[in-house]
Amino acid sequence: MIAFDLVCSHGHKFECWFKDSRSFEEHKSIGIIHCPVCNDHRVEKAISTFAIKKYSDRREEKEGKKEEKINPSPDYQALQVITEYVNKNFEDVGLDFAKEALKIHFGDSKKRNIKGMALPDEEKVLQEEGVPFFKIPLLKHLDN
Ligand SMILES: [Zn+2]
Repeated sequence: MIAFDLVCSHGHKFECWFKDSRSFEEHKSIGIIHCPVCNDHRVEKAISTFAIKKYSDRREEKEGKKEEKINPSPDYQALQVITEYVNKNFEDVGLDFAKEALKIHFGDSKKRNIKGMALPDEEKVLQEEGVPFFKIPLLKHLDN
């Protein structure tokens, strides 16, 4: 499953889950994706927000590469907590997220928690390379 942040032609942002990237294109081409706010069928993928979790606490280092899975619920309060946590503990690398995540993944950069934004194509590369990351919606859009 893959989550896409979508935006309609009126600028409403929402999240949709699909089997894979192709499934999004298929659903879109037959016009069954619509904006939950205004029912608009003209939707596009928005730039996604990502965060990556560092590999190491000591236990994980001993057992080798083992990632803690964080599956944020769409619940607003949970999102607030996660956003606060990420803002406090993750270094913001902005649009360099994918580049930096790959560097960390291949050991070219110091292992640390980073957050930033990635385009759908970059997300695909991260998935193909097996880079552990999770995605959270931007809270400021939920406030609209
Ligand atoms: Zn809309």
